[in-house]
Amino acid sequence: MILFHPFSPDPAYLERRSETIDWLVNNSVNILDLGWEIITYPCEKTSDYEDKFRELWGKDDLIIWEHDIVPTMEAIIRLAECEYDLCVNDYPFWRLGYQPIYGKPAPLKYRSSCRNVAEDGSRQDSVDEWADYVGFGLTKINRKFQVEHELGMVHEDRWDNLDTRFCRWTYSLGYRWHVHRPMVKHNHYPEGR
Ligand SMILES: [Zn+2]
Repeated sequence: MILFHPFSPDPAYLERRSETIDWLVNNSVNILDLGWEIITYPCEKTSDYEDKFRELWGKDDLIIWEHDIVPTMEAIIRLAECEYDLCVNDYPFWRLGYQPIYGKPAPLKYRSSCRNVAEDGSRQDSVDEWADYVGFGLTKINRKFQVEHELGMVHEDRWDNLDTRFCRWTYSLGYRWHVHRPMVKHNHYPEGR
């Protein structure tokens, strides 16, 4: 397993990163004890995130953990052990455009066309939830999926829609994301604004 942690070295982001950095300091030994590789990756240029992501493609099971998410070991282990190819741990998300509709922090299911239908079209029980589009905040893409699919998303020199472009591609392949809860903390919009 590779735990890929892209981050912005820009001091402007330090406030939303600090709790995440603390978490990594406190938990890196536990993660390394699992035999995993941790890649903390400073993204200086807008293309760095995608370039590194493409470099890692096909190498190993991959967990992407972005710099403003405070995970838990339990959440990370659940992602790693889950049988599905594409998994996401839900987190609060807020954008101005969502405010008039929901009026509160929007969990993943409200910003995705969620359905309880698996990749093969079969109905899932009510415990399992599936999303078409997700943010990359805390996600797992297993190696099997990577090996079976040459990375086919559209290339743009942007980091902030990498997840959208990736999901557009996986959606076109007929895949959905398996949603994990409870939500983890997101320090970009910690209070929903
Ligand atoms: Zn899963």
